[in-house]
Amino acid sequence: MSVNITFLGGTGTVTGSKYLVQHDGKKLLVDCGLFQGYKQLRLRNWNPMPVTPTDIDAVILTHAHLDHSGYVPLLYRQGYRGQIHATPATCDLCAILLPDSGHIQEEDAAFLNRHGYTKHDPAMPLYGKHDALLSLQLLKPERETKTFSPIPGWKATFTTAGHILGAASVLIEVAGRRILFSGDLGRPDDMIMNPPAPPPDADTVLIESTYGNREHPHENIMAELAPALKRVAARGGVAVVPVFAVGRAQALLHAIALMKERGEIPHGLPIFLDSPMAVHTTDLFQRHPDAHRLDTDALKGLKHVATMIESTEESKALSKRHGPMVILAASGMATGGRVLHHLAHYLPDHRNMVILTGYQAPGTRGATIASGGALLRMHGQDVAVHAEVVQLQSSSAHADATQLIGWLGQMKNKPDQVYVVHGEPEASDALRQRIERDLNWRAIVPEHGSTWPT
Ligand SMILES: [Zn+2]
Repeated sequence: MSVNITFLGGTGTVTGSKYLVQHDGKKLLVDCGLFQGYKQLRLRNWNPMPVTPTDIDAVILTHAHLDHSGYVPLLYRQGYRGQIHATPATCDLCAILLPDSGHIQEEDAAFLNRHGYTKHDPAMPLYGKHDALLSLQLLKPERETKTFSPIPGWKATFTTAGHILGAASVLIEVAGRRILFSGDLGRPDDMIMNPPAPPPDADTVLIESTYGNREHPHENIMAELAPALKRVAARGGVAVVPVFAVGRAQALLHAIALMKERGEIPHGLPIFLDSPMAVHTTDLFQRHPDAHRLDTDALKGLKHVATMIESTEESKALSKRHGPMVILAASGMATGGRVLHHLAHYLPDHRNMVILTGYQAPGTRGATIASGGALLRMHGQDVAVHAEVVQLQSSSAHADATQLIGWLGQMKNKPDQVYVVHGEPEASDALRQRIERDLNWRAIVPEHGSTWPT
């Protein structure tokens, strides 16, 4: 009996990751992500899944980012009550991210209804905070490198992927087939995360390709950040930094702490971390000391370099403060969260600056800013972009093309097939070509909804 995979998301896009592995009537879902970015992608979240959620036997999450975990509350709402296996740090992060995701969707729907910006009457959230809280009961922590059995007769093992706290690759073993999911891979030289573990041998590999057509510059994040922060401080401006609450927020705080210590930026430059989620994530670094590179002193630096903003009132009060200052706020691609009101307030003034810190998926406000868009649509209004735009090239939490090839190249035996996933079409195809050329392996970019053998 064959083992096959259906690609339910994360193909032709970096969002919505969902891979259904089927064998002998059993179904395992690897990752359970939300589609984000372009409206036609986001609308897919509302379509029924091609598989009945109650027919799925088990779910495994590679990490907590919403494009890999954000569909979990919806799966719960549709009746799924099986286990959701993830590393301990991923479980902890989901407990922060998923309820927040539900809360944001409720707020967005309420905003649309209040201001009449909707063709739907009334606008509904995809799911709410309550659904998210209930779905957390299904999470089952599994330690890295310790094999577990998600379905009788199936085996699964997590290994470190770097990327963010708790991120893992996962090897599935069923019916004599070994299927490796890379998950999102970090960089071997990341400032705060551990390097990805070498991949175990497998018959089939699914490899991410976010940066499948790009190389990171060699200089580090501080070399890019220091001149920008000095510039904005000198003109008394405000730097708004949309951050991924989980991952890049901590990398930036660490870099800022080091630069202040070394005198590379003004010691008195006020820094605000305006994201309760990012604040809680920073605490999780203390709880999972083996899951990252930071020692006790560095962790202390993270906590003290910025003023932590928790309440909405404090967040709004920030807008009354004068520069210079730096505000880090979620979300990283400006798709939602508190960063929106900071952008609306500070973007129209040329003394200010917006610093983009990582991958900006097409269709997001972050991508519009990155491409030099003069107007940004927010909450039904156009905001003029006069602030200086700085895009950090070296702050990505993803491996670049050469690092992805380097990771695959550590496999001792050639896999039967490689499926290139989790990338924009050009990035996935560029990585496919490099795999065929550099490693001489067969590689395929599967289409959304297609089913392939393992
Ligand atoms: Zn990720």
